[in-house]
Order: sequence, then C-alpha cells, then structure tokens
Amino acid sequence: MIRDPESFKLLIETIERFVRERLIPREEEVADTDAIPADIVEEMRRMGLFGLTIPEEYGGLGLTMEEEVLAAIALTRAAPAFRSIMGTNNGIGSLGLVFDGTEAQKQKYLPRLASGELIGSFALTEPGSGSDAGSLTTSARRNGDHYVINGTKRYITNAPQAGIFTLMARTDAQSKDASGVSAFIVERATPGLSIGKPDRKMGQRGAQSADVILENVRVPAENVIGGVEGMGFKTAMKVLDKARINIAAVSVGAAIRILDEALQYAIDRRQFGQPIGEFQLVQAMLADSQTELYAARSMTLDAARRRDDGESVTMEAACCKLYASEMVGRVADRAVQIHGGAGYMQASAVERFYRDVRLFRLYEGTSQIQQLVIARQMLRRARR
Ligand SMILES: Cc1cc2nc3c(=O)[nH]c(=O)nc-3n(C[C@H](O)[C@H](O)[C@H](O)COP(=O)(O)OP(=O)(O)OC[C@H]3O[C@@H](n4cnc5c(N)ncnc54)[C@H](O)[C@@H]3O)c2cc1C
Repeated sequence: MIRDPESFKLLIETIERFVRERLIPREEEVADTDAIPADIVEEMRRMGLFGLTIPEEYGGLGLTMEEEVLAAIALTRAAPAFRSIMGTNNGIGSLGLVFDGTEAQKQKYLPRLASGELIGSFALTEPGSGSDAGSLTTSARRNGDHYVINGTKRYITNAPQAGIFTLMARTDAQSKDASGVSAFIVERATPGLSIGKPDRKMGQRGAQSADVILENVRVPAENVIGGVEGMGFKTAMKVLDKARINIAAVSVGAAIRILDEALQYAIDRRQFGQPIGEFQLVQAMLADSQTELYAARSMTLDAARRRDDGESVTMEAACCKLYASEMVGRVADRAVQIHGGAGYMQASAVERFYRDVRLFRLYEGTSQIQQLVIARQMLRRARR
C-alpha cells in the first residue's frame, strides 16, 4: 500500500541518489575498515533512515510493508553493510517493542531508535541454540522488582554499537521449550553486560556482530516487553515473520546491483573480437538471472501487499525469504562467472557481493527452516 505516491516517489529518489552518490563510492573503504564512516551514519540519521518503519507517532516514517520493501530494494544496491547499521532499528531491533511493547516502553525507546540516537539489536541466538531457538538457556530469575539475567547470546548484529537489546531469556526455569521464554529490553550500560570481540566474518565487513555476555545483569521488571512473562518467543516469531519479507527485499536489491555489474561487464569485455555479451552462453546466464530476479521482486511485493491488507503471511514471508536469498546467491555466482578471472579478484564488486549475500540464506532462519515453516503452514491450511 503506497499511501501518498508523490511523497513516496520523492523518498525513493532521495534514497537512490544517496546510494549512487554517497554509498557506492565508499564501499571499498567500508570493506577495508570494517566500519561505516561516521559522516555517513550522521547523514543516514538526518535523512530519517533509522526510523523508516517506526510508527509516525514515535518519530518514524511509519512505512507500510510495500513501501518498506521498495525502500529496502533501493537501499541495498549499495553494499549490504550500509543497510545493516540501520537495519536492526527498522527491523528486528525495534519490532518487538512496536508489536508488543507497553505504551511506556514505546514512549521511552522508539523515538530514540527512530532518530538513530540509539541502536537496537535483537538477541535470540545462543551458542547452543540457533534454529532451535525455543531451547535457549539464558536465564532470567525474578528477584523482587528486578530480573537477574545470565547467559551468552551469539552472532548479535550491531551488538558493538547497540544501546539496547531486545533479548529473549527463560523466565520459567522448569520449562524446556518456547513457553518459558520472555522478551526483555536490556540497556547496554547495565552492569554485568559485556560485548565480545567483533566476529570475523566471510563477508559484510562494516556490519558487525558479536557475542553479548550477561553475568548477573539486573533488569527492572518493567522491562519485560508487554509486561507479561512467557510471551517472548511469540514476540520473537512475530518479529521474524515481518523481517523475513525485508530480507527478501534486501536480496532483491543486492541482486539488481550484482546483475547491473555483470551486464556492464558483458558489454565492456571483449573476447574473440566481440563483447562477451554477444555470446549466447553468457546471455543465458544474464537471462536466467533477470528472470529469477523478476520472480523474487514480484513475490516479495505480493507478500508485502497482502500483509498491508491484513492477511497472515507467515507462509508467504518464508517463501519470499527462501526464494529471494537463494536467488541472489545464484545471481552472484553467475556474475562472478561472467567476470571470469576478474570476478575472483577483490578489486571487483561482484567478488565482495558474492561473499556478502551468502549470509541471507543463514540468518533470520536458514533456508531449511523456511522450508519447514512453509510446509507446516501448507499442512495446517489444508487441514482446516
Ligand atoms: C552474521 C550473522 C548475524 C546474525 N545476527 C543475529 C542477530 O542479530 N540476532 C540473533 O538472534 N541471531 C543472529 N544470527 C544468528 C542466526 O540467526 C543463526 O546463525 C541461524 O538462525 C542458524 O542458527 P545456527 O547458526 O545455530 O545453525 P544451526 O541451527 O546449528 O543449523 C546448522 C544447520 O542445520 C540445519 N538445521 C537445523 N535444524 C534443522 C531442522 N529441524 N531441519 C533441517 N535442517 C536443520 C540448518 O538449516 C543448518 O543448515 C546471526 C548470524 C550471523 C551469521
């Protein structure tokens, strides 16, 4: 649902110009330094990019899902690390509060997330629980008007920069499954909370992740999201349901950029006396990539529109995340192939994107977990 086509067009044009003129020229610097330059972060704040999805009453732009998808596609034509620094505030780092937070919690944190003054992270994964997130063991023991939290969270995006964490911990020590999990807002400055060294990753340099270590961290009881124990896993799954459509959009944006690079190279590079783009075997790689990209973009927009219409899109979101993240992997692989030896060299953007996009098939639910979600939803719908 596009609410006001004129002002939305302006927003997309502004993002596209920012990507073209400010982000793409700094990609190599980001890869070399493993950080987003401070002046770029400041510009993102001024443009309101940290609050794209946060409701307007809390200082954000309150984009609909369809608008969010189009904005994400525009933004991720630059290296995915740029999107990552603001990605958690627009997604997994704020959605728990947006969906299930109390009014006081929303008032306290959402405006600062929307402005980018505060970075929000989402801490679900642990050393012993990834896909099986419901088995997490980080404990939150009630002690008067506080909880005492102990445990370790792993691979947490933007943990080194974060001011707050939406953190899932087990409040019911007797439980072993998702029913005993609650979601908390944990402030970075709380004594006992420390951040591990940034992870050394395959790609997406500039987008940092790290362990979050909690040793007797005392969190006020008023920081249980929604004020109710035992709802944390449901909150986390609602967050991921929406975020998966965003990852599909991000995959589409990256695929557009990668295919642009491959197409340009196919025009410029000559072998056997002609541009390699004239060879039908190279054309087949371009055509397959374009076809799959078009399919992924169409299905992602369809899921977004359905969500805006109030439909439950758990299955569609998983279909989009599965297909689009696998699609961008194939597109990146073909782009390296079209570049020949140059595609294996770090000087080429496609080499970097090839590594960067590998992540999309892993986080916010691996491809196998998306397959399970899709099949379960199919069976549930058929049994109704
Ligand atoms: C760079 C990065 C950033 C991340 N950021 C965050 C973050 O901000 N917050 C957060 O909470 N987490 C984050 N994660 C964690 C991410 O969501 C998990 O890595 C992911 O969910 C997979 O969990 P795992 O790594 O433990 O793999 P595992 O669950 O151990 O899976 C290993 C393999 O087994 C397969 N598998 C597992 N269970 C099944 C099954 N039932 N059926 C079939 N196959 C199965 C998986 O698909 C995979 O192929 C991040 C990860 C990375 C790499």
